[in-house]
Amino acid sequence: MAGRGPKPPGRRRAPSPTSARTARARPEAAVVSEPAPRPDKVPFDIDDVLARVRHTVRDFADAAMFALSARGHDSLFEQLVACILSIRTLDEVSLPAALRLLERASTPEALARLSPATIDTLIRPVTFHEAKAHQLHAIAVRTRDEFAGTLPCDAQVLQSFKGVGPKCAHLALGIACGHEAISVDIHVHRVTNRWGYVKATTPEATLAALETQLPRRYWVELNRLLVPFGKHVCTGSRPRCSTCPVLSACRQVGVTNPR
Ligand code: SF4
Repeated sequence: MAGRGPKPPGRRRAPSPTSARTARARPEAAVVSEPAPRPDKVPFDIDDVLARVRHTVRDFADAAMFALSARGHDSLFEQLVACILSIRTLDEVSLPAALRLLERASTPEALARLSPATIDTLIRPVTFHEAKAHQLHAIAVRTRDEFAGTLPCDAQVLQSFKGVGPKCAHLALGIACGHEAISVDIHVHRVTNRWGYVKATTPEATLAALETQLPRRYWVELNRLLVPFGKHVCTGSRPRCSTCPVLSACRQVGVTNPR
């Protein structure tokens, strides 16, 4: 399983903090607020909170894309393929599917040589596998033909592919290219809003708020920490607040039925 901490995966390229952010307009409705003081809570210190989360998740399985990177599947193309497979699919399903596919074809040229039907067979338990098989094949063909077989570290290029949004583009660029980019999935959105660190109703607005106030050194690591934390501690229903390492600082916004 993957190593811990913000390790630099292999084949990283020079950081480029800007290109991931230029691919989309900022949501107009992002609402940013520091957690309000509460007599029963300590001041919210993001460094301390993330250190506690980092310690807590050290024994949990890494999110699928980080786990793949640790196994050597760390090119931008492989990370993008893995992220598409993970959309609306549990890591327990998407990770084995990604390994099956990438062990058969880990480059655009190799994947383009497979038929969509063969790709579908390899990824079959994944949600929307048939549509994703066609998307992956189209990405492989275009990467081979338009980019000489190497995807550029460019968010606009990634998001020009069907099925690729900011979440996948940012995470793939962060892991494979070293870009400073925040990837907000449902766990990052839920946890940061419960903390009271941001106040936003959509993942897009949470992303805009985090880009305003989260120190850049945490931009890539945040997803790595909060996916396992959201799966095992700050769960969607009945979060485990009584044993949570950040209970003293968390404002528990919207939490009505904790364990
Ligand atoms: S105290 Fe509860 S709501 Fe806050 S982070 Fe922990 S589990 Fe989530």
